[in-house]
Amino acid sequence: MRAEIICVGSELLLGDIVDTNTQYLARRLSGLGIDLFFSTSVGDNLNRLVDCLQRALSRSDIVLTTGGLGPTDDDLTREGIASLLGETLVVDESLAEHLRRFFALRGFEMTENNLKQASLVPSARSIPNSRGTAPGWWVEKDGKVIVAMPGPPGELHNMWETQVEPRLAGVGAAILSRTLKAFNISESRVDDLLKPVTPACNPTVAVYAKQDGIHIRITAKAENLGAAAVAIAPVEVQVRRLLGDSVWGADEDTQESVALAAVAARGLSVAACETITRGQLSAMLASASAGGASFLGGLVMPYGEGDTRSAAELASLARERFASDIAVGVAGQPLPGADPPMDQVNVAVLMPGGASASEAVFRSRRQLVRTLGAYYALHELRRLLGHSG
Ligand code: AMP
Ligand code: MG
Repeated sequence: MRAEIICVGSELLLGDIVDTNTQYLARRLSGLGIDLFFSTSVGDNLNRLVDCLQRALSRSDIVLTTGGLGPTDDDLTREGIASLLGETLVVDESLAEHLRRFFALRGFEMTENNLKQASLVPSARSIPNSRGTAPGWWVEKDGKVIVAMPGPPGELHNMWETQVEPRLAGVGAAILSRTLKAFNISESRVDDLLKPVTPACNPTVAVYAKQDGIHIRITAKAENLGAAAVAIAPVEVQVRRLLGDSVWGADEDTQESVALAAVAARGLSVAACETITRGQLSAMLASASAGGASFLGGLVMPYGEGDTRSAAELASLARERFASDIAVGVAGQPLPGADPPMDQVNVAVLMPGGASASEAVFRSRRQLVRTLGAYYALHELRRLLGHSG
């Protein structure tokens, strides 16, 4: 089953508004397992709209439109569909009555142009709109379906979720995704290592660079969710083998939740002291600890030139202050001559007993150093605890 989206409205093409309707519908279709190969934006112009509708119907089974259902002359989606089908618009008396009541309830007088929103063609059934005046259209002709929905996102979402999706559910296959997350490895290196698995088309493997590292999304399409999960499992094993211990988590995991879970799993506690990351590491650990006792606290010291305290010294300060089993220190210094400006981040992790200290170095653009430095410290902590994602 193939769907296609057409968003109608000159404001989209003038750059006045961002097209969020396509993103919304694309996600919903994917959840239903309905393929989406094309989406188009078209202005408020009858000929070009009919042209888009015609092309969409020639290559897709379901055409979803948003926008152009308003009462004004430039709202042309109904006229476009009528013209494409060679059918005539007729005002539907029960829809007109519904509109009159809508206005009366709000104390407004209904103007004549609103009647346009009560019109149908013979192949169209109206779709109720509990959020606004424009009903949608469900059109079936020659085995194809056109669903016309309003442009305002609130109205679209409500109509889709209560009226349209229930009619489409069961039409497609199931699509399931699993996202693995890696850190301290470049996107191109991940891409290179994953060469053995990326050419496959089911499951697909896609690589995305994000702030907390590289995300690898494995997506399978199958008859049902169980079968999709079965298809994903061996690919996940393969991806993990190819990427080794740079994989730190999956799906909803965050670096801080995974690192803290590793600390807690060993019955230990951790504290932090940081300069260059300006409190970001402590803030992440604090927000991930949600009442748990494994994060004892963080010290934030000013960062500046001429700061000679090492990461290990900072870690010792944290351990002294909070009496934690593990202490993380994050120091840093500017990299001379870097353009754009860069900083070096030094991370030290003092493990229980005080004997084992590890020191690691990471370089980052200054703009990102607070967050990336904190992620790097979490990555070091997790790595030293031997925790795999
Ligand atoms: P219309 O149904 O064409 O009169 O659209 C009414 C309003 O819905 C527009 O003024 C926008 O605010 C909003 N809208 C229309 N299309 C979109 C879209 N693709 N994405 C987000 N908002 C939209
Ligand atoms: Mg419009």
